[in-house]
Amino acid sequence: MTKFEALGLEKSLLDAITDMGFDTPSEVQEKSIPLLLSDEIDLVALAQTGTGKTAAFGFPLIQKIDHSSRTTQGLILSPTRELCLQITNEMQLYSKYVKGLNIVAVYGGASITEQARQIKRGAQIIVATPGRMKDMIGRGIIDISKIDYCVLDEADEMLNMGFYEDIKDILSNTPESKSTWLFSATMPKEVASIAKKFMHKPAEITVGSKNSGVDTVQHEYYTVGGRDRYPALKRLADANPGIFSVVFCRTKRDTQKVAEKLIEDGYNAGALHGDLSQNQRDLVMNAFRKKQIQMLVATDVAARGIDVDDITHVINYQLPDEIETYTHRSGRTGRAGKSGISMVIVTRSELRKIGAIEKKIQQKFISKKIPTGIEICEIQLYHLANRIRNTKINEEVNNYLPAIHDVLEGLDREELIQKIVSVEFTRFFNYYNRSKDLNTTDGDRGNRKEKDFQSDSGSVRYFINIGERDGYDWMSLKDFLKDTLSLGKEDLYKVDVKDSFAFFNADSQYKDFILETFTDFKVKGRFINVEVSDNPGGGRKRRRDKDSRRSNNKYGEKSRGKGRKKDSNFSKGSGGSRRSASSGRRSKKRDGFY
Ligand code: AMP
Repeated sequence: MTKFEALGLEKSLLDAITDMGFDTPSEVQEKSIPLLLSDEIDLVALAQTGTGKTAAFGFPLIQKIDHSSRTTQGLILSPTRELCLQITNEMQLYSKYVKGLNIVAVYGGASITEQARQIKRGAQIIVATPGRMKDMIGRGIIDISKIDYCVLDEADEMLNMGFYEDIKDILSNTPESKSTWLFSATMPKEVASIAKKFMHKPAEITVGSKNSGVDTVQHEYYTVGGRDRYPALKRLADANPGIFSVVFCRTKRDTQKVAEKLIEDGYNAGALHGDLSQNQRDLVMNAFRKKQIQMLVATDVAARGIDVDDITHVINYQLPDEIETYTHRSGRTGRAGKSGISMVIVTRSELRKIGAIEKKIQQKFISKKIPTGIEICEIQLYHLANRIRNTKINEEVNNYLPAIHDVLEGLDREELIQKIVSVEFTRFFNYYNRSKDLNTTDGDRGNRKEKDFQSDSGSVRYFINIGERDGYDWMSLKDFLKDTLSLGKEDLYKVDVKDSFAFFNADSQYKDFILETFTDFKVKGRFINVEVSDNPGGGRKRRRDKDSRRSNNKYGEKSRGKGRKKDSNFSKGSGGSRRSASSGRRSKKRDGFY
């Protein structure tokens, strides 16, 4: 008897399992398959993606469905189109020897008529995203009033994406008597409340430890200045030549910008975000799967369905608002028994968030240093030497060897090696020679509170490379800064315009935000450069009337309050992730500003 046979699966499924090359059931399969086959129960399973959970609910569901009837008996809800298609494909492979079974995928962004046609032919199992599902129920295309099984896959993701109401509506169209199987990587209180509301005494299984990321993932953070995020990202990529990674940004704009810069700088990168058409997204995902793209720069929402197993690194270019989101990000690596690294690029002011994440995932972060230029050159050199050693000789070169020998005539072995590796090494060396150290000290994280408070109370003087020659006086420059930064008039002071440059001051709480806003910032094709000035002149903080500041600030004190609130949401891991249209606009202007 095979290990899968022992779980109680039928021959048609066992044959498919053999075809798929599955040898041993994974933990979640071992725990849930016998349970779901033996009884009609509700189930809450805490399992990450990559643990084999699709098969854990897929096999029992296929076995329990009456495939001689055309009635819809099973519904699987999943957060994204990508995941929906992935589940459908997997389920079709599992059921390849089950005659008459129709599994249909229902998701947004594709023809509703075609999906309706497939449903009409009789779909015993529907795999759907909540939005499109609700729409099709509303139009009377789908009848789920007689289903026996409802699977909520990646329930935490669905709720994160704001599908609570849709799920509630969909479930209200299903019979009380059905069994509900809920799969989730984490158990935030919103998921617990769904379980409580819609399930009857569910059995619970946990794979790995509750609420924690997979322990095959090593978590690292790198502390840099706000404007050094991008150079830091490049160094992390250069220091890991075989990298196959997802780089997470917080906004679509940053995602696009970072991907474009990486491509410009010669990396195999691509962007994945919601402003791309479905077709563009499919192209990027296909290139990523084929490893033509080594660095996939993505927003959290767009990256949800990524089902690629051998991602070596997840890079948090910016930290997410919610800790739960960090768990999902880092869960993209370390899948299918492989190990992975989740790197976080942080500024000093964000360091306390690392502690909050550690608490949540119950794993420690390692504080790492961004490699220096010379370290990268060394890594690249050894990588090249290994590549040369491991390269399979292409016999075609033999045709050219006599001529090549002529060209290289007179070089001895030593010289030849030096020259070959110099080809690549010089490229990195020229780039990194005399490059600066990007690390800022992370200090003692335990004492952050006091330090944060101290730094928040100061003022920072900046240098900007525009001046009178560019048509600015102190008033127009202040207006330019005010509009670009969306700060209040009173937040910017001591504006001192010289011929070709100027200085200005702002409270130090805005430092990261200001430097980041002016990173690679162009006006009419010209780079506007802002740096912290060594000249402390005028750095004394001006006394200001708080009320007048509030009224003068475009977004008001309230907006800054909001930023802080986001912070406290972060540390509690709660609060909605969707922004209102107006605050969304605000945060867009304040990219990277927590
Ligand atoms: P999932 O967690 O469902 O996304 O599954 C992750 C990957 O593991 C998928 O590519 C599955 O085909 C594969 N898989 C699932 N179960 C097993 C198993 N028992 N042995 C080997 N691979 C599996």
